[in-house]
Amino acid sequence: MDRLTPVEQRAPGRWQIGTVASIKRETPRVKSFRIELPMWMPHLPGQHYDVRLTAPDGYRAERSYSIASSPLDEGTIELTIDRLADGEVSPYFHDVLVEGDQVEVRGPFASYFVWRGEKPTLLVGGGSGVVPLMAILRHRRRTMPDLAMRLIYSVRTAEDVIYGDELGDDATLTFTREPPERWTGHTGRIDVGLIADAAAAVDTGTAFVCGSNGFVESVTRLLLEAGYEPGRIRTERFGPTG
Ligand SMILES: Cc1cc2nc3c(=O)[nH]c(=O)nc-3n(C[C@H](O)[C@H](O)[C@H](O)COP(=O)(O)OP(=O)(O)OC[C@H]3O[C@@H](n4cnc5c(N)ncnc54)[C@H](O)[C@@H]3O)c2cc1C
Repeated sequence: MDRLTPVEQRAPGRWQIGTVASIKRETPRVKSFRIELPMWMPHLPGQHYDVRLTAPDGYRAERSYSIASSPLDEGTIELTIDRLADGEVSPYFHDVLVEGDQVEVRGPFASYFVWRGEKPTLLVGGGSGVVPLMAILRHRRRTMPDLAMRLIYSVRTAEDVIYGDELGDDATLTFTREPPERWTGHTGRIDVGLIADAAAAVDTGTAFVCGSNGFVESVTRLLLEAGYEPGRIRTERFGPTG
């Protein structure tokens, strides 16, 4: 009997060396990195990868980054990273990595903060918390464009808007510090009115909330106030600060 041909093992837990194919500056503090993966496997929108940096003395730092791209982008993933001035890993991506460099990653991970085609859906993101929500939006635009979905996106100023060129009628922005000139839309923190308007546009359904701890907590409270039961709210927290 013929021997079975061995197949390459594509397991989400294995570290692999990716290659930075392109880097895009999104805002003064945020860049997107498209990374080619030798053991790429399809992810669910909302999932993340772990990134590991190793110093010459063996010191290691590991962080998680959400996937911004649709799983239809075969062979690559896009990570969008906010540069924290006193950070360890994010400044390395911004200041050191160039196209063609290699980076160690493993994933995709997470089974809870994922979009499996639920309809309708409300997405609420603060700052870089928009990253996994953009994966959901991008994938929905390519696979189920007629499905009701709305993004509420809170940013500080006009120059902090990530993916600005991709935000269409399905996105509502609010500027918490300084709106752009002649802005007639929402300003200030997300409030229950903004949630209720967006929720009415998509009817009832699942809400995905992502951002800092403080952002996620206050938006979750507003969603509960607007009538969302806890089981319809999925949250992802990026950092320790509010
Ligand atoms: C599931 C998951 C997905 C994530 N996805 C993304 C993503 O798509 N894009 C992205 O930019 N980040 C994302 N993060 C955050 C990321 O993992 C790192 O925490 C972040 O990049 C900071 O790492 P650092 O090494 O640069 O800073 P560190 O050296 O870890 O921290 C430096 C300082 O910043 C504070 N800090 C740490 N994290 C944050 C934060 N997120 N916000 C504000 N202050 C912070 C620390 O308390 C410390 O004072 C995600 C986190 C999780 C858990």
